[in-house]
Amino acid sequence: MAALVTPTSLVRAKRARAKSAVPHKGRGPKDWQAQMRASVRSSAELAAALVLTPEELEGARRAEREGLPIAITPYYLSLCDRHDPSCPVRMQCVPVAAEGKAVPGDLEDPLGEVAHEVAPHLVQRYPDRVLLLVTDRCAVYCRFCTRSRMVGDGGGPVPDAALEPALRYIAEHPEVRDVIVSGGDPLAMATARLERLLARIRAIPSVDTIRLATRIPVTLPMRVTKELVSALKKHHPIWVMTHFNHPKELTPESVRACERLADAGFPVMNQSVLLAGINDDVDVLERLFRGLVRARVRPYYLLQADPVRGTGHLRTPLDRGIGLMGALQGRLTSIALPKFICDTPGGKGKVPLTPDWVVARRPGETVLRTFRGEDVTYVDPPAGGRG
Ligand code: SF4
Repeated sequence: MAALVTPTSLVRAKRARAKSAVPHKGRGPKDWQAQMRASVRSSAELAAALVLTPEELEGARRAEREGLPIAITPYYLSLCDRHDPSCPVRMQCVPVAAEGKAVPGDLEDPLGEVAHEVAPHLVQRYPDRVLLLVTDRCAVYCRFCTRSRMVGDGGGPVPDAALEPALRYIAEHPEVRDVIVSGGDPLAMATARLERLLARIRAIPSVDTIRLATRIPVTLPMRVTKELVSALKKHHPIWVMTHFNHPKELTPESVRACERLADAGFPVMNQSVLLAGINDDVDVLERLFRGLVRARVRPYYLLQADPVRGTGHLRTPLDRGIGLMGALQGRLTSIALPKFICDTPGGKGKVPLTPDWVVARRPGETVLRTFRGEDVTYVDPPAGGRG
């Protein structure tokens, strides 16, 4: 029977938690496949692990019937506060009733990936790069997922034969230099299968870089084993695009996974999504970006949350992100400062957004505003140059 919560029981539970430094029984199994098997996948399992609010319980029951399913590894669950529904890790993986609510601007496929499919499982939105969707499975189903229309559908990894047309397309289009392998999460696949795929992509002479888009260093860091990195590094250059959203996710285990990748020669980049009530705060972002740099992960993008159906409660107005970037400018070294990006609805492409640092343009000079708020004039060189 699921646990229901009243305001009084919440307060009592919070007091009890304050006395107990370790609300969970450790991080769960050390083996990544055992973690996947032991994942929480139902409302009853979730209610046994966390003290759910009525909104969470309703959301979890809805997720069993429709929409994005529930999957939370024991590791990621151990980062959730058992009693506090505003815990930034819990908010990313525990469904809430608001997922059933549509808000203006919501789309099922906000990046128009279906419309931009050039071969089965292959999306092309820019001339020089493609997105290869190799599985629908992830270690944790994130409640803000842009691909909630297809992840967790139960199909599992795409069979090798079904990827042939996509590989043929890449080989026949030498303008494609960069292949982003995504899903779902490609690291949720068996190593041999993933390696076979990477070898096929690497054998295409026109491909410069392969990117692995994965949240597994965050949600299942024990997957990043020595065996995995030794198998994958044979197909370098491979860039790892990971997805930390909150400093609480930077645990000794996840940092070790990132360092293991960096040690094996994988450049590791991070794409955070700006999420209301989770990381839309200047101090939280500063701690996150500094922590990533310490783990040798480059904060690459801060993404405006895509208008995915059922995620209106997690989205922020565009101005919020622009304001946060303004506050971080000058406060953070440039290597820790990502670009703030809006991936435009309909798959029309990414647009970088910055505060208005240019305050006036006059013939031959431009007035710039510094991070301290001072206006400084930059004078252009005389027309005609050296002549
Ligand atoms: S890991 Fe990525 S693809 Fe999977 S649910 Fe999370 S955001 Fe979506």
